[in-house]
Amino acid sequence: MTEETPTVDMEKIVSLCRRRGFIFPSSEIYGGLSSCWDYGPLGVELKQNIKQAWRRAVIQERDDMVGLDASILMHPQVWAASGHLEGFSDPLVECQNCHQRFRPDQVAMTKYGDPPSYFTAPDEGQLALKLSRAGFMRANVKFLNFLDYKDKAPCPFCEVVGQFTDPRQFNLMFKTFMGPVEDEASVVYLRPETAQGMFVNFQNIVNTARKRLPFGIAQIGKAFRNEITTGNFIFRSREFEQMEIEFFVKPGTDEEWFNYWTEERLNWYVRLGIKRENLRLREHSKGELAHYARKCLDIDYRFPMGWSELEGVANRGDFDLVQHAKHSGRSMDYYDDETKEHFVPYVIEPSAGVDRSALAVLCDAYDEEPDKDEIRVLLRFHPTVAPIKIAVLPLSRKEPLAAFAREIHTSLRRHWMITYDDTQSIGRRYRRQDEIGTPLCVTVDFQSLEDNQVTIRERDTMNQIRVPVAVLKETLQAKLEGEDLFVLPEGGQIWKEEKT
Ligand code: ATP
Repeated sequence: MTEETPTVDMEKIVSLCRRRGFIFPSSEIYGGLSSCWDYGPLGVELKQNIKQAWRRAVIQERDDMVGLDASILMHPQVWAASGHLEGFSDPLVECQNCHQRFRPDQVAMTKYGDPPSYFTAPDEGQLALKLSRAGFMRANVKFLNFLDYKDKAPCPFCEVVGQFTDPRQFNLMFKTFMGPVEDEASVVYLRPETAQGMFVNFQNIVNTARKRLPFGIAQIGKAFRNEITTGNFIFRSREFEQMEIEFFVKPGTDEEWFNYWTEERLNWYVRLGIKRENLRLREHSKGELAHYARKCLDIDYRFPMGWSELEGVANRGDFDLVQHAKHSGRSMDYYDDETKEHFVPYVIEPSAGVDRSALAVLCDAYDEEPDKDEIRVLLRFHPTVAPIKIAVLPLSRKEPLAAFAREIHTSLRRHWMITYDDTQSIGRRYRRQDEIGTPLCVTVDFQSLEDNQVTIRERDTMNQIRVPVAVLKETLQAKLEGEDLFVLPEGGQIWKEEKT
């Protein structure tokens, strides 16, 4: 595999997600709603597991972090202070022939014969190169350059040349109205990021959570962006979920904490089962850096469309707290009792997407292997993220076997999200569980009624062991925590060893 070889076809992931109930297009019976997605039964569990793993790593297992769940609708002044009202926009041009709208950089791409999607270049670096050769800057598409080019540019959609309007800035925030009157005074916005909820609550947390610097606030929640360029499944949607941290530090210690959090966050993805070689760090160049950011880097994943951002880590200095102090008239100073100083803390922001994490986990886990005359499709999920941890499979629906299997199912479901399946042949049931990434299957057969033992089958190797029901729970627990299948409990034996 070369640097740029995609891990898997996006179409295969989309089709598996649809077929098995991970993710559906939103409002599908009405033809879908552009760039909005519904998570089905397995998708919900997958997302929940990712969020829980994040919360455990950044809140539960630390002394210096607390959680928050701020409201989605916030005072409009928040967005004036944060700069979103003025600056959170993309340039937009419209083809006057077909009335499709594009970002100018998409139009530029067509000159090189590429499809008009922003993400068709293998990675941001190559895209930036192409665009700069064409006289366009990715980070800040230059209007002037587009004006030079617009009369010669073919429309990426209808291919008619030179029909573009001048670029105008298009704010990406969704607007709505609060209260019964729909006028300018009642405009509120759906938050385009969760971060501002943490900045405006900075003093509330200092005063109530008894945290001293350095400490952080962590929040998971929905964010909304009226993206011009959407696509690539759940990679870029208009409604998505973020997992964000604002970690407040004393100025001067910010670089150290920036490096710490970069490392920490990268390792978190590896602990979630994502292959290290499919992750990379990419520091923003000076030209790309937001004006308030002191340093910024992306944790990229090798998605099917190329290397793209999974999470951003930014050193935002004191920009946000100073802005909110100015706009609200409330002090954002922190008093350090040791040095007796007042100062505004700096902030390190690791900002991740739940949906992009889910997509990365799905792509990384997807595998196909030959199996007799067929292809075995499997999701090699790490047990932490696997939607279903265990499937209980009785070999027959007959009594008393079924009752025996049901009893096992009932006793295990208290501990994990598990499933019970008694339809079709056992081979087909194994394949179904492989395809949804269930790490372990427990098979109950007629002999179980006599010897009180069941088999445990491992998804990745298809190896099987047989263990007494009395030690089943502890054995499953150990295997889900990574113990080798062939480490046997008392009374256990190797049942089937696949020689693949
Ligand atoms: P991009 O450059 O890909 O648009 P961004 O730099 O605007 O992303 P941030 O504002 O840093 O993204 O948001 C933090 C994280 O939120 C991103 O790393 C990503 O995981 C997630 N995210 C942002 N926009 C979207 C979106 N439209 N759909 C899904 N996830 C998103």
